[in-house]
Amino acid sequence: MLDKKKIKEKLEKERDMLLEQLRDIGKLNPETNEWEATPEERESRESDQNDMADRFEDFEERSITIRALESRLNNILSALKGLNRESFGRCEVCKKDIEMDRMEVNPAAKTCKKHLNG
Ligand SMILES: [Zn+2]
Repeated sequence: MLDKKKIKEKLEKERDMLLEQLRDIGKLNPETNEWEATPEERESRESDQNDMADRFEDFEERSITIRALESRLNNILSALKGLNRESFGRCEVCKKDIEMDRMEVNPAAKTCKKHLNG
């Protein structure tokens, strides 16, 4: 039997952690409901060419990080949503229980180890 309470706690903890990281480098656009990178605040107000290029690179990096965090977050949110469903913790392919050690590493897992890649 899967320990749903334990998994729920783990999911919520990870969700909060991801939200914290997202808020650090971006903000949620209420119109699109998507996270967007915010430009880094700099102490100096100089805006020579190099600085502009740096800023652009930082912004690009932030955007990439945000996409990755966001996709993890969406995974967690959908796992949390599915937690109360009968099918939670069961492989989508073979319908068998997903290994507990796999669920502990990735509570949002939807397939067992055998069907990891398909
Ligand atoms: Zn399976």
